[in-house]
Amino acid sequence: MGAAIRKPLPEMFRGASFPEDAEWVLHFHCYLLLAGGRTVLVDTGIGGVDSPAASWAPVPGRLVAELAAVGVKPGDVDAVVLTHLHSDHAGGCVVGGAPVFPNARHLIQRAELDWISGPMREQVVAPLGDRVEVVSGDVEPFPGVRLLHTPGHTPGHQCVEVGDLVLSGDVLHHPVQLGDPTITYVYDVDPAEAVRSRKAILARARVLATAHFAEPFTSLSS
Ligand SMILES: [Zn+2]
Ligand SMILES: [Zn+2]
Repeated sequence: MGAAIRKPLPEMFRGASFPEDAEWVLHFHCYLLLAGGRTVLVDTGIGGVDSPAASWAPVPGRLVAELAAVGVKPGDVDAVVLTHLHSDHAGGCVVGGAPVFPNARHLIQRAELDWISGPMREQVVAPLGDRVEVVSGDVEPFPGVRLLHTPGHTPGHQCVEVGDLVLSGDVLHHPVQLGDPTITYVYDVDPAEAVRSRKAILARARVLATAHFAEPFTSLSS
């Protein structure tokens, strides 16, 4: 995490204690789902050198190259689910002013679109044009793939649920929040609401696919 927004860990995660020399290396994970004959991407990472994330994240991201490595071209992606419109999750939708995934519907919660402003609205949402598909609340856009409105980190944050797997976006940032979901993150828009969403997701998932942990997948003991 670049110096522009980095703070000491105890300020980032109020209520948590860390060893004095603890370091936090922020990882950025996107997920590819092959579901019901569709190719669905969940989040698009930090984006290119012109991304709004450039002020704090190590742009350019590697998403398109990583997709190519598993045989997926940008034009193959049928749908992009954006957990929320922070620059490290949606920055990779648009590079050089053009949509990266030209054939994809981009599913975003209504509450997120109502809230977002500034460079993310102007440089990312606007160029997507009619590729944006507005969703409201909990919906099942494809058989077996559910979107769960989980506000708090941002007003229109959503998770993706497939069976007992939840792709949890920014409902969690650091593993300390697994042991104590009341530990808040400094950049949560509504920390109390984020706690409620975090508890709800931890109660219903068996496996988490997280956005920022070092290990992408976390098994939860029941
Ligand atoms: Zn975020
Ligand atoms: Zn994030």
